[in-house]
Amino acid sequence: MANSKDARPLLQRMRHNPIRSFLALAAILVLAAAACLAWSFAPARLELPRVEVGALPAASPPPGMSISALPTGTYETPAALAFRGGSWSDTRAFAATGILVRHPKGDLLIDTGFGKNVDRQLALLPSYQRSTHHLGVPIARQLTAARMPLHDIMGIIPTHTHWDHISGMDDLHGIPLMVTDAGHRFIASRAKGTEVLNGLGDVQYQQYAYNGGSYLGFPQSHDVYGDGAVVIVPAPGHTPDSIVVFVTLPSGKRYAFLGDLVWQTDGLRIPAEKPWLLRRLIGENYDETRIDLARIRAAIARYPQLTAVPAHDGRAFRSIALYPAKTR
Ligand SMILES: [Zn+2]
Repeated sequence: MANSKDARPLLQRMRHNPIRSFLALAAILVLAAAACLAWSFAPARLELPRVEVGALPAASPPPGMSISALPTGTYETPAALAFRGGSWSDTRAFAATGILVRHPKGDLLIDTGFGKNVDRQLALLPSYQRSTHHLGVPIARQLTAARMPLHDIMGIIPTHTHWDHISGMDDLHGIPLMVTDAGHRFIASRAKGTEVLNGLGDVQYQQYAYNGGSYLGFPQSHDVYGDGAVVIVPAPGHTPDSIVVFVTLPSGKRYAFLGDLVWQTDGLRIPAEKPWLLRRLIGENYDETRIDLARIRAAIARYPQLTAVPAHDGRAFRSIALYPAKTR
């Protein structure tokens, strides 16, 4: 209670004890920073711009076309790290799942999930990026077990080149990785996040260009087969090489494979961003992720036949048959 008797003005008292004053100021700053950081994980509905997605793009997928899901494992992440407002006690099993597209003009793989060497690959990453993971059956083994020749796959389309999307490339040597020129430059720059891909060695690249017009609000597109069945659009927010892959099936059902635009469907539904700290560590382009999130939300609101699939939300894959079964 001694201080209560000290009637001198605060500034005068601080001048008389500069060390104590410095420590008090430092404590206040640390508490303020901790409060800001805690707030950045708190629930916050993201305000998104209104976007016009236009008419449903034409597509004429051939009757023999189908897709199948190939789960390869999971890694554990608290929902609090996946989207603002997620709970620390709600542990999500992040899916590492590839999609096989079977098409008469040649099959494609969208993302590769975990390969057999995922443990060795993870050692290439900074420790804060490594997660407790569970390796299931890698895609190459699943395909071989069903007697599908691996060379039937004409290309691998990574939604982006982070480890959890291209790890399985290691078991699929000789199948080209399909990237844009900008994507290739990003990989060649050995940017943060490309360590595992650059550690694979003899990767063959096949470049494509955004030579098509706007698609569901995205300004550019690339139609892989020329029939609207698989259309890639740029979404360079999570990483500079991030894309969204739209797939239209013979039944009329459509999918948008979002990569890591959001990590869980909650991010799309609320909508809610990834927490600030995670976005900073990854180096995301916030403006780009927000406009792309707005486009996807507008597209699924207008066209109920379109299902959006965040790459790490196992629930979003439920309507897709597990390989070797097919969804048409
Ligand atoms: Zn990912």
